[in-house]
Amino acid sequence: MKKHNFSAGPCILPQEVFKQASEAVLNFNNLDLSILEISHRSKDFVDVMEEARELALELLGLEGKGYKALFLQGGASMQFVMTAYNLLENKAGYINTGTWSDKAIKEAKIFGEVVEVASSKDKNYNYIPKGFDVPKDLDYLHLTTNNTIFGTQIKDIPTTDVPLVADMSSDIFSREIDFSKFDLIYAGAQKNMGPAGTTLVVVKEDILGKVTRQIPSMLSYATHVSKGSMFNTPPVFAVYVSMLTLRSMKAKGGISAAAEENEKKATLLYSEIDLNPLFKGYAAKEDRSLMNATFNLTEDNLKETFDTMLKEAGINGLNGHRSVGGYRASMYNALPLNSVGVLVDVMSELERKA
Ligand code: PMP
Repeated sequence: MKKHNFSAGPCILPQEVFKQASEAVLNFNNLDLSILEISHRSKDFVDVMEEARELALELLGLEGKGYKALFLQGGASMQFVMTAYNLLENKAGYINTGTWSDKAIKEAKIFGEVVEVASSKDKNYNYIPKGFDVPKDLDYLHLTTNNTIFGTQIKDIPTTDVPLVADMSSDIFSREIDFSKFDLIYAGAQKNMGPAGTTLVVVKEDILGKVTRQIPSMLSYATHVSKGSMFNTPPVFAVYVSMLTLRSMKAKGGISAAAEENEKKATLLYSEIDLNPLFKGYAAKEDRSLMNATFNLTEDNLKETFDTMLKEAGINGLNGHRSVGGYRASMYNALPLNSVGVLVDVMSELERKA
């Protein structure tokens, strides 16, 4: 029986995508060749890359608005470097909402002055800072829209005149936002989009070319834009599986349909967390993430019993990150509502037993 997979990433993807991807490993497009053995310059693969890039822009509602989609390597962590390398001339602002923002800040400091416009470090990142002023002289403002580890999510995207850059690794394609507010969006594939190994970058072309430093070719967005994301050998399998996931998402009604499901899943789980006296949510209620729900047991001595019950119910990947402890249920797009139902049943069963 397939496990109920609440893993934080890499994570569950649509089952039909796993099937199609496994078929393509043996025989891709009826070529009698594996997707893993064809040239990345062959028409069959170039078509995959083009479709993936187009689907990403289409699903985000950014077609024809001056954006380019790229599938790069190096993970979201490489984007901590590339964003600053390509965009930071004098001063950049960062909203520090967790471990990943903190790492992005560290890299950006190599390239210029960094201002922490707001931070929630004082409470181990269990909330999203609000009501801050954004300086007008920034090259850009960087946000992490969803904090995978702490389970918080920025609900209201700040309105500002400076270019907006966002790490959307753990909530891209999961909710409706006006993506055209952003000048650059990046996201490691391994949550809502595909397997580990590629990172989606969506960049507005007119923000490029403004820094005076020389940028190595591989780290320059302009290089990848001019080469159609094929400057060097792309991670072909990761791009292929991402394309299949984006296709599947489009066929199911795009972001609005996914968002509706995600609301249902999150409501179901958070209601149980709030009603069941044995559990306590970690993140401030108004900032709770729809993707990663973080919570703790109120009675530590029930941990062993709860963990055994989770295992027996076929639930995988519920352990919290070491910096928060407790539990974290990641409910990415491909996680069925039924899996959340199974988890909630285990939680209420624990209350009956205790
Ligand atoms: N940003 C966020 C929000 C993340 O959740 C992660 C990883 N889970 C990263 C950045 C780092 O991604 P990668 O491992 O692809 O470098």
